[in-house]
Amino acid sequence: MKRIGVLALQGAFIEHIKILQQLGAKAVPVRLPQELEGLDGLIIPGGESTTIGKLMQKYKLSPVIQRLIAEGLPVLGTCAGMILLANQVAGLDGYSLKVMDIGVKRNAFGRQVDSFETDIRMPILGDSPFHAIFIRAPWIENMGNDVEILAQLQDGTPVVAQEGNIIVAAFHPELTSDTRIHEYFLSLIEGREKCKK
Ligand code: GLN
Repeated sequence: MKRIGVLALQGAFIEHIKILQQLGAKAVPVRLPQELEGLDGLIIPGGESTTIGKLMQKYKLSPVIQRLIAEGLPVLGTCAGMILLANQVAGLDGYSLKVMDIGVKRNAFGRQVDSFETDIRMPILGDSPFHAIFIRAPWIENMGNDVEILAQLQDGTPVVAQEGNIIVAAFHPELTSDTRIHEYFLSLIEGREKCKK
């Protein structure tokens, strides 16, 4: 059984845990550095990136997460999780792990009242669209050559991207009953296990 850590400092971690369990993985809430060891994957959930960032530093999680990602640990960051993985963050005076070659803008679509839901096309998930819930969401403003865009809004704004073992989504896939993004994440983990053998 795969053991997937879900950073459980603040935000929508319970919903990720439930989806992972539904998909037959063991979900491990992570609050302390030692809880990161021996995981097959890690999810950084949505919430408030400044708060999660502060707590990540306070509990000394950041250097361990950075090392594990550099070693190839598959990571999924959603919304605030995407912000925390980005190399550059516009509108954040706080902290990010700086492990993915993207520049993002916080609260890029506006304030809470500008939160919205929309169907997006994501070819790697098949033909049927994914219902995406954006809550004070960031967007990706720029990216390096090794970053692949997996989904865009109608106007071309990239909202799901991947760089090697890191996947980010600007919205909240854990708040819908569609489990395909989590399944895709678990398939990356499968792939990594096969390579190790
Ligand atoms: N606006 C939040 C931030 O900047 C992210 C919102 C979310 O994760 N839904 O951290």
